[in-house]
Amino acid sequence: PMPEVKGAVEFKNVGFSYEEDKKILDNINFRFQPGSSIALVGPTGAGKSTIINLLSRFYDVQEGEVLIDGINIREVQLESLRKQMGVMLQDTFLFSGTVMSNIKYARPDATDEEAIEAAKTVCAHEFIMNMPNGYQTEINERGTRLSIGERQLISFARALLADPKILILDEATSSIDTRTELALQRGLQGLLVGRTSFIIAHRLSTIKNAHCIMYVDNGSIVERGTHDEL
Ligand code: ATP
Ligand code: MG
Repeated sequence: PMPEVKGAVEFKNVGFSYEEDKKILDNINFRFQPGSSIALVGPTGAGKSTIINLLSRFYDVQEGEVLIDGINIREVQLESLRKQMGVMLQDTFLFSGTVMSNIKYARPDATDEEAIEAAKTVCAHEFIMNMPNGYQTEINERGTRLSIGERQLISFARALLADPKILILDEATSSIDTRTELALQRGLQGLLVGRTSFIIAHRLSTIKNAHCIMYVDNGSIVERGTHDEL
């Protein structure tokens, strides 16, 4: 098992291929302090999702090391690693049940008050209260009654309640209405406090707010810095 994680994340000379003879990532190096927010940007096929796949140990690196608080993640039980990580992919996983049970997904023991508090912090409360039965509204398997942005807001509340030290977010690319966009922008800031986050960023607000932007192209990090620096 993993000791209490602080959230320092390091990639050391990381190389990776999905298939033989086709290198996808080459010599990736970075190190971030706990609490850093990192935006990954770059063209399609550049390797952004692959970096995240390696951090969450969806795949194991073939070259180099991925370290959390200085510990090689290969030496950690997958289950205890994943407990420290909140992963929010574009196609947010919702299941049929109430909004409340979806928020409590990773923390079924949480109280309704805690879940509502989490939703408020990530700016999801208002739209939930506008649903026919508020938190008791039933949503179907893929959350089709909800917009992509609304689904992402629910996933923010879920992630906050689970309280992981490391957050991984693949931002939704689809167009989002202004109101939801603003809620997402504010909600994300609330969610990031005190965590290390890696966000595949599509929204300018996310990129501007990141402590570090890494521009990935063709399997390498070709530029890094703050929004003002780049
Ligand atoms: P996008 O912005 O389109 O999501 P990305 O930067 O996330 O792109 P990756 O998904 O990391 O890019 O893909 C990097 C490269 O790896 C691409 O050439 C892609 O075709 C290839 N690739 C991704 N997943 C796999 C896989 N499971 N098996 C084989 N090749 C893959
Ligand atoms: Mg991707």
